[in-house]
Amino acid sequence: MEDATEEVPGPLAALLTGGRFAALAVSGIRSALVPMIEGMKPSDDGNPMSYRWTVMSMTELAAPASSLDVARIREVFPILSELVSGKPLVYLDNAASTQKPVQVIDAIANHYRRSNANVHRGIHELSNRATDAYDGARDKVAAFFGVADSAELVWTRGTTEGLNLLAHAWGTTHLRAGDEILLSVLEHHSNLVPWQMVAQRTGAKLRFIDIDEQGRLDLSTLDDLLTERTKLVSITHVSNALGTVNPVALIAERARAVGAVMIVDGAQSAPHLPVDVPSLGADFYVFSGHKMCGPTGIGGLWGRREALESLAPFHGGGDMIEFVELESSTYAQLPHRLEAGTPNIAGAVGLAAATDYLTAVGREAILAHERSLLAYAIERMSEIPDMTILGPRDLSERSGVVSFTLADIHPHDLATILDSEGVAIRAGHHCTQPLMKRLGVGSTARASFYLYNTPGEVDALVDALQKARTLFGY
Ligand code: PMP
Repeated sequence: MEDATEEVPGPLAALLTGGRFAALAVSGIRSALVPMIEGMKPSDDGNPMSYRWTVMSMTELAAPASSLDVARIREVFPILSELVSGKPLVYLDNAASTQKPVQVIDAIANHYRRSNANVHRGIHELSNRATDAYDGARDKVAAFFGVADSAELVWTRGTTEGLNLLAHAWGTTHLRAGDEILLSVLEHHSNLVPWQMVAQRTGAKLRFIDIDEQGRLDLSTLDDLLTERTKLVSITHVSNALGTVNPVALIAERARAVGAVMIVDGAQSAPHLPVDVPSLGADFYVFSGHKMCGPTGIGGLWGRREALESLAPFHGGGDMIEFVELESSTYAQLPHRLEAGTPNIAGAVGLAAATDYLTAVGREAILAHERSLLAYAIERMSEIPDMTILGPRDLSERSGVVSFTLADIHPHDLATILDSEGVAIRAGHHCTQPLMKRLGVGSTARASFYLYNTPGEVDALVDALQKARTLFGY
């Protein structure tokens, strides 16, 4: 789709009517880290790539306007009433971690108040309560992801641990010198570094899907990249740095066609997209509880049963065994075989409460709300001179993340100024240093939305950004 240039109503109005709009005036960047290249057009300047445009077209808007009662939602998130720098907190760092509703806070507190004991081993009332809560949590979280057999859900500390588990338990036993692991340049360090370690250990080779000037995966190279040497493909569902939603089901199908195992990094899709995990067609999917209103220190690894069976035990210890001799052991059934030691029981209980909460609010409604906020944010931010917004132009190809640079103000300075206005955003490389290098920037600022954010908070962000501009003499 070429850029549209006709005069149309503002993005939010167009979103409400399901129409088409073109309104984003996004100008060049004069970052301290990257020299300004005037008049740059996409794709005519090689690397570092041009992701700049002056008029953005946004079509195929997948979501209707928000139907959420955000005022009521905000009432159950106590932290949102905090003052920061004497101002109401505007929390726009949801891609890093999300806030917790009272339902989650109470579930954890009540667990410790009334049911705390170790699971599976004790034959006493509290142990039974804890075991019931813990096993029930697995069933609930599995169901949230459309997984019928909860034994296919392995608890982890989060996405990073899930990927490391796979790299070690699958990678070190299945990869040989000359095999290839296909990743993308969009990946979070969690989906790069474990594979680098495994590649060094096994002699396997890393290959990468590149991106286009909008930060979308360039799938035109898939035919070349996917061969009989490809043993593993591991791709993020949603980019935490740009918000790009990747067509992982399509990639999984292509991976399967060459006999490769497919992993989806779901850290940013589990909270924001209504994902029916098995229908993605992948072998494994990993996610983190803290990014979806759940507690820190808990997350999951889903695997097709045969795929999980192909994993060597990862950590050894209590709970993952069947019989232990001094010299050898036999192992427990799935999922316990991959869960050594006392688990994060309260974490699992809290995460189940989070999935109950998100289900009650409605995941489609949450997605529509985030898309409407995203459209409004891009419209308002585009009013700011010297603003550069990165990522896909089509809203249906991105989640509620706006990565940006403003004039030559260092993103860390921006975040600091915004913090003094009560606005929490993130600045830096977002654990995607290779992506930043590919884009030709050192870092970006990033605002990311969730169900409790409001258009008023977008206005507060824009006001604070305008203030930062003024402070820097623009
Ligand atoms: N992958 C992606 C896409 C992420 O956004 C994150 C968190 N920023 C991770 C992996 C790692 O998640 P965690 O730190 O919760 O393990």
